[in-house]
Amino acid sequence: MKHIAILGSTGSIGTQALDVIRWHPDEYAAEVLCAGSNVNLLIEQALEFKPNAVVIADESKYTTLRDALSNEDIKTYAGADAMCDVMSMESIDMVLAAIVGFAGLKPTLKAIEAGKAIALANKETMVVAGGIVTDAAARHHTPILPVDSEHSAIFQSLVGECSPVEKILLTASGGPFYGRSRESLSAVTLEQALKHPNWSMGRKVTIDSATLMNKGLEVIEARWLFDVPAEKIEVVVHPQSVVHSMVQFEDGSVKAQLGIPSMKTPIQYAFSFPKRVGSPLPRLDFAKYGQLTFGKPDTETFRCLALAFEAIARGGNMPCIMNAANEVAVQRFIDGKIGFLDIADHVERTMQKAQYIATPTLDDLIETDKNIRLSN
Ligand code: NDP
Repeated sequence: MKHIAILGSTGSIGTQALDVIRWHPDEYAAEVLCAGSNVNLLIEQALEFKPNAVVIADESKYTTLRDALSNEDIKTYAGADAMCDVMSMESIDMVLAAIVGFAGLKPTLKAIEAGKAIALANKETMVVAGGIVTDAAARHHTPILPVDSEHSAIFQSLVGECSPVEKILLTASGGPFYGRSRESLSAVTLEQALKHPNWSMGRKVTIDSATLMNKGLEVIEARWLFDVPAEKIEVVVHPQSVVHSMVQFEDGSVKAQLGIPSMKTPIQYAFSFPKRVGSPLPRLDFAKYGQLTFGKPDTETFRCLALAFEAIARGGNMPCIMNAANEVAVQRFIDGKIGFLDIADHVERTMQKAQYIATPTLDDLIETDKNIRLSN
């Protein structure tokens, strides 16, 4: 039995992870559930899964949580510090890092320092502090298992290989606006941007998919997870989202992992690795697709992808600057304060003017993130 703590249990990834646990009650148990502010769903989840502890980041919701669970043998906590503290609970075997954005960094690092295996969905953690996170994981002998479908595909393609990677081929659906011109994107609405053709995800990652920032974040995530320089990572547009990503080796062979677009498969693989366990999901029906297509991304129209390559090339705190600017801009777009194209413009302007630090410490990164949010 693997005892899993879920950071972000009320989100898209968190709720799908609980579905996986429901499928395999003899293999996995929800040991700790952590949410941001959705206290009602957290209570519902706690009553069903009977975890050892639950944490709500939003302290104003604590009384509601405590009162609702007062007849249960479940510890209740509130606040960001409590979320970090519970990560060292002895009974946790694995932590699913599925908080959205920079907020996921600290508890994930605490879990690594406590020696817990990490199933990593929160890509922003790697984007912002990839060097610090991978160093900590090496020091504490903590495995980091990717949950992002592309990174899970790369990871699965690497199982059993001992030869160097020549190239990572990171697939991208292209999002809802693939093939559109820059001019035609100036007036797109939030509703249109939230209509992803293949995936149902949280709002922030869905908007990131529409701008291609998601792919940029994934390039940086792949750079750190697989220790491959960005020059060896190529983004390939594959609108059907069936080939989840590929690895090319020095003999020219390419290995890929394929499947229907469902996050439950990579979540489950991170839980079950190195073995596989059964899944009730429908199987891939190749005849249904007819054809699988591949193309190049348009980085002129979708500037965010080019900005991410620039950020990783500059290194230091630049990916952190880019990430914070993007989080701010996406929220503004969601709030109806800026247009779709303004997201990339905002990120680019912030990257030009923010204070660059070549070798940042964790505190420098926390300060960078804070300053970008304050100045925007
Ligand atoms: P959602 O927005 O659906 O969920 C985010 C989760 O994080 C919620 O449980 C939310 O709690 C919690 N949360 C938000 N802010 C805080 C905070 N400050 N402190 C504690 N908890 C917080 O996001 P997704 O599930 O879509 O994405 C999660 C991560 O996984 C992202 O990094 C995303 O890029 C990555 N990812 C997602 C995929 C997907 O299919 N959804 C695919 C691949 C990667 P609450 O709702 O209670 O406030």
